[in-house]
Amino acid sequence: MSTPLNPKRTVAELKELRSLTGDENGAQRVAFTPTWVKARAWLKKKLEAIPAEVHADAAGNLWTTLAGESKRSLLIGGHIDSVPNGGWLDGCLNLLAGVEVLRRISAQYQGKPPVTIRLVDWADEEGARFGKSLFGSSACSGNLNMDEARVLQDKQGVRLPDVLKEIGVDFDRVKESGKELEDAAAYLELHIEQGPVLLDLELPLGAVLGTFGVERHALTFHGQAAHSGSTPMNRRKDAFLAAAKMSPEIYRIAERQGGVCTIGSCTTRPGIVTSVIEECWITLDQRHLDATALARMLQEAKAASERFAKEGNVRVSWERLWQIEPVLFHPELIELCAEAIAETCGKTHRLPSGPLHDAAEVARAGVPTVMMFVQSLHGISHNKIEDTKEEHLELCVEAFDRLAHKAMKWVEG
Ligand SMILES: [Zn+2]
Repeated sequence: MSTPLNPKRTVAELKELRSLTGDENGAQRVAFTPTWVKARAWLKKKLEAIPAEVHADAAGNLWTTLAGESKRSLLIGGHIDSVPNGGWLDGCLNLLAGVEVLRRISAQYQGKPPVTIRLVDWADEEGARFGKSLFGSSACSGNLNMDEARVLQDKQGVRLPDVLKEIGVDFDRVKESGKELEDAAAYLELHIEQGPVLLDLELPLGAVLGTFGVERHALTFHGQAAHSGSTPMNRRKDAFLAAAKMSPEIYRIAERQGGVCTIGSCTTRPGIVTSVIEECWITLDQRHLDATALARMLQEAKAASERFAKEGNVRVSWERLWQIEPVLFHPELIELCAEAIAETCGKTHRLPSGPLHDAAEVARAGVPTVMMFVQSLHGISHNKIEDTKEEHLELCVEAFDRLAHKAMKWVEG
């Protein structure tokens, strides 16, 4: 394979984008803002120079096409938008590595590869302004809830449909974006890990198995307020005692089932120093890559809450706040990804993704999908301290290009 691939150029372009659209607090490319528009115009120039055809779809996603002998398409995705005060790599690393892959393929096949290669910059992956992430990719996959999205507002009360209008997108037609997936045969996405798993294993790269399913619930323990001096210990209906027992229990559940569980908040009533707690409200977030194991985690938590309530002579009620199924990536593409990583740096590792990504939406639309993770220093993201070693950035571009090469052959069949 002739490789005019230049990973150092990707690192240089990431720095160029950082100085163009960031400040001392980090990246400022919040979707649909003037800085985001500026970042996109910068990206578009690079893409048109390849040369490749560039257009925005009905949902504001930016598609770049290198038309091949066959219409069957290999897609590569990322997002140039960031959270406010965000990191310099989240989302744009995927795109700029994709640009480099497109350059390599265009040069290798004199502009006409055997299959069509497309790069997509998803609109508003982060949902930083309207509180709804994966806007562009969920419009494209058909999973966007139109009634919910129509009434989304930012902190100033500006509605999402009005903001979309300003960038030339008609809210009522965003799902027409779905036709972009017609000839999609595979989808690849590179991303920084945003967690510490690869860092702890001292590995630069990993093949991603899929994204976690999530069960999010609110639990209320109902007891009885009583005087803290006059109520004997054996006569109390202490809502907090039952709720508090859930805290060590979720660690045992997570350990047994191999998932993650979090009690993220705890509110008590009446919440005064001289009263037994009458009502205790906690939230529980449970995640697992395996749907059956996730269901078991939920069932075990429910059983435990009933047991603790009974022990303490209180009641418990549950309310589901949100839920999403796990999304599994394509086994053959995971294999190709692991191979590409092993060929690049000797060792590979397979891991699930805790956060959701646009790739999950594309997979839900039925397109065979895989993601590659590169190590994050500090395991931190959505923060200006987000970083990855420069040598790892270069390695990930190289490995991702190898994956693109393998996936292209796979699509070719
Ligand atoms: Zn991202």
